[in-house]
Amino acid sequence: MPEPVPVELPPPGGETPPAHRPSAETLLRIENVVKHFPIKRGIFFKRQIGSVQAVEGVNLEVHRGETLGLVGETGCGKSTLARCITRLHPLTSGRVVFDGVDISRLSVRQMRPYRRRMQMIFQDPYGSLNPRRRVGSIIGDPLAIHGVAEGSERKRRVQELMETVGLNPEHYNRFPSEFSGGQRQRIGVARALALRPTLIVCDEPVSALDVSVQAQIINLLEDLQGEFGLTYVFIAHDLAVVEHVSDRVAVMYLGKVVELADTAELFGSPRHPYTAALLSASMVADPEKARASHRVVLYGDVPSPINPPTGCRFHTRCPKAQSICSAEEPPLEVKPGDPAGHFTACHFPVQRGETLVGATPEFHQAAAGFVAISPGTAAEGGG
Ligand code: SF4
Repeated sequence: MPEPVPVELPPPGGETPPAHRPSAETLLRIENVVKHFPIKRGIFFKRQIGSVQAVEGVNLEVHRGETLGLVGETGCGKSTLARCITRLHPLTSGRVVFDGVDISRLSVRQMRPYRRRMQMIFQDPYGSLNPRRRVGSIIGDPLAIHGVAEGSERKRRVQELMETVGLNPEHYNRFPSEFSGGQRQRIGVARALALRPTLIVCDEPVSALDVSVQAQIINLLEDLQGEFGLTYVFIAHDLAVVEHVSDRVAVMYLGKVVELADTAELFGSPRHPYTAALLSASMVADPEKARASHRVVLYGDVPSPINPPTGCRFHTRCPKAQSICSAEEPPLEVKPGDPAGHFTACHFPVQRGETLVGATPEFHQAAAGFVAISPGTAAEGGG
């Protein structure tokens, strides 16, 4: 069989200049994306008895060259949204527009050129690599699948990638078990870079790693972004990591985006009560600041996405909830006094300088029962 002619790939990151300079140009547009997973019952004749509403009407734009952080508790739908973006999950409804092209309904064959340009890095560096295959062939897989390079040319490119991510190219024939956790995540990064993508969706890429190794991988991702002009969607539940890497941050709760803003703006003046509670619960390195900080306790579990609360989905746990909150869903909009680009979905956003007071368990029991709550009940609560 004749050896395929090596294909010259465009520079990594497409048109973006090789520096981390987010532009105003939209690379990815997520329009009203909905993802429901059907729940079926029955042995022979399965019938749908409900659905898990994992993602519900999400609208987001990702600019070329930026890092958009996605945060929220486990089960809020951020990983499902990541898989919808990369078409690993088909959408229930809505659109994903990548570089001006609606990719949400493309066939597998039509999707191939776009697969090359959008890649994923997964959370688990142990589980995402086949232990029976050598590292060289794992990293070279995308090159083989897309017919980009064969034989010695593929080996050369793989070894170049290994060098780029800080692995020894001489370890080409080793198995994943011969690498540490951080090195395995570097293998995942090299595999994602193989086709020189424009967009990389990083799904909790450092959550499974030790703190010191986390820093190495984050530095590597930042260096690669600067070198290749990559665009990242960065999913994590560690707020310190998200604050460090992101240009903008979107906060998700129960399948919806509840706040979106520039990183400094969101961390400095969170307007949604859920964001304020999340930030108050995160670790503060400075002991002085930690002593002065105020922690907001959220009682109750995250409600089931099978039967989410009416109105604002956060109303069963929100210390600022009032009766309208269980009846009317607040739109995601720029609130008066906020800078352009700071969107909040809340009827009673946290005011700048306001200290959000946690509510009592009794308050939350009332809220969970959709009982009308008079203004001020929450503020009286301890917490
Ligand atoms: Fe809380 Fe109401 Fe705002 Fe929802 S809309 S976050 S329940 S104050």
